[in-house]
Amino acid sequence: MKRIALFPGSFDPFTKGHEDIVLRGLKLFDEIIVAIGFNSGKSVRYFDVNLMIDRISATFKDYPNIRVVTFSELTAEFARRNGANYLLRGLRNTTDFEYENSIAQVNRYLNEELESVFLITSPQFASISSSIIREVHRYQGDVSTFLPYKL
Ligand code: ADP
Repeated sequence: MKRIALFPGSFDPFTKGHEDIVLRGLKLFDEIIVAIGFNSGKSVRYFDVNLMIDRISATFKDYPNIRVVTFSELTAEFARRNGANYLLRGLRNTTDFEYENSIAQVNRYLNEELESVFLITSPQFASISSSIIREVHRYQGDVSTFLPYKL
């Protein structure tokens, strides 16, 4: 059976830290679905979702086993509908751990086939966060070194 992992997130924006998790995840899974949680009615994003789909797709253009999609339903349900038995997530620190621990418990309650798999951040990307990138970009700072693509 194909091992399909869902890598869900806001990806506002998608960073080199995210890219690293996806590429390392490819050693564990046959296929990875990068899924941008997005609700057109409610979501207030900083970076346009279509821009992000385009840039993430370009980043992984040489990898036929990486797909980029948006979703606006329960992650556990979206995983089930797409045949993904694994949720891929990244951990930078204890704050991430506390948060991820709670969501992983809920996701497995909602879909008991679903295993969450956590990769520890690579040290060179440990301090990269989407929220800090948004702040820097808002005030015209250069964020290019944190992103695997040109905005
Ligand atoms: P969410 O809004 O679901 O937290 P994010 O887009 O912020 O989504 O992050 C998606 C996943 O990537 C999360 O598991 C997060 O912990 C992880 N992540 C974010 N930045 C990094 C990084 N620099 N290194 C490793 N993992 C990261």
